[in-house]
Amino acid sequence: MTDVDGVASAQANPTTRRLDDWDTARLTALADTYETPLYVQDLDRVRQNCARLRSAFPDADVRYAVKAHTGRAVLETVREAGLDAECASAGEVDRALTAGFPGDHIHYTAVNPPARDLDRVVEIAAEASGMTITLGAVDTLDRLTERGYDGRVCLRVNPGVGAGHHAKVRTGAAPKFGVPYDRAERVAREAATRVDVVGIHAHAGSGIDADGLEDHRSLVSRMGSLARSLTAPASDELVGGAVDDEFVTDALALEYVDVGGGFGVPYRADEPPLDLDAVAEATRDALGSLPGVDLAVEPGRYVVADAGLLLTRVNTVKPTASEVVVGVDAGMTDLLRPAMYDAYHPIRLLGGATGAPEPADRASTSVTVAGPICETGDVFCRDRQIERPIRGDVLAVGITGAYGYEMASQYNSRPRPAEVALAGGDARLVRRRERHADLTRVERDTAADADGETEGSR
Ligand SMILES: *Cc1c(COP(=O)(O)O)cnc(C)c1O
Repeated sequence: MTDVDGVASAQANPTTRRLDDWDTARLTALADTYETPLYVQDLDRVRQNCARLRSAFPDADVRYAVKAHTGRAVLETVREAGLDAECASAGEVDRALTAGFPGDHIHYTAVNPPARDLDRVVEIAAEASGMTITLGAVDTLDRLTERGYDGRVCLRVNPGVGAGHHAKVRTGAAPKFGVPYDRAERVAREAATRVDVVGIHAHAGSGIDADGLEDHRSLVSRMGSLARSLTAPASDELVGGAVDDEFVTDALALEYVDVGGGFGVPYRADEPPLDLDAVAEATRDALGSLPGVDLAVEPGRYVVADAGLLLTRVNTVKPTASEVVVGVDAGMTDLLRPAMYDAYHPIRLLGGATGAPEPADRASTSVTVAGPICETGDVFCRDRQIERPIRGDVLAVGITGAYGYEMASQYNSRPRPAEVALAGGDARLVRRRERHADLTRVERDTAADADGETEGSR
């Protein structure tokens, strides 16, 4: 690629999209048309993120961790871009099927899976051939084989290395996840007597950045060593240490080593974007030589985060001794990340209040942006310097495409917000705003079912 092409493609597909890159007039028009709070997800940007991942990892299997955003339009876009689906529950597997992923492009990672999830996933595996189940405990293997499953299994390993932007998302060293590293070879070889062991897997956590690269490297290198042990005959030491368990002593035919996701996204304007090529190079380097075994990665956030934002309208502006409290119509039930992880999201004043000056013509001030929920934690930011908002203005909360709508709830009996998907010049409502009737639907259905039963037994 010549320099000129390099520059052109960097312009066509920048490594990150900042909140300031969105068109103000278009966003305020969307807020007017669809009302607020409103999630906006740009499918073109999702496509660009997929393309950058595919080009940084040309030989790897790239699997989208769908829990970051399970909307059907996003899943279809990701599928068309050539990524597989990494699912964390049976519900996500069903969503992936509905979005058209074939079985052999679906990976289900079971963490203490409820019986109902296993029932459903075994049922799906019988129809959608080629699906892989990743498990991190021998109990899960037993529960699968009790259900007659003898298909493709990947072993989740606890590499003893964690990474991530917050303790709540560091999974690599948490005992909850995966089989302990020093037991993994035994467990994999035992499992191979009962199912088809096709891969090994580890996920360090979320938010790998330049600082977390060393952790990523050590995780990958441990996984490379384990894969080399498994793809060779069992060592004398391992065989000698066997008590009465049966296990496969021949080399296992692993298809892949999955080193997880967690690629970070710069939420702050002054944070540099993740150097994906450097991550890819470090990954290949640390993995070492593994002939015939593919590398797999599972980014979630990276695929969707900067493709989305949340629009919310200012309904209250209250000066206090310390700051201006700006009340908005979105809260922690719409976007949980600030309350849950102390996460930073950029916030931009778009304006739009009738008769108000343009944001650029206003003085800036220190604000707390607060939602409508009766919880102290229901604030999107504190002490943030922005142009002074006026009642009726629209604010954009940036980089909410990952774990945004996905973590929304109806707490405080708040209907979940609407979502529009952008593609080319078009906007399409993909999730209508919930109504009050949606809040009571399950109870009404339950009452109706009970009435039906009473009638039926009469
Ligand atoms: C959540 C998750 C991912 C994706 O994490 P991101 O930080 O969104 O990239 C990948 N793999 C597994 C097993 C996960 O649970």
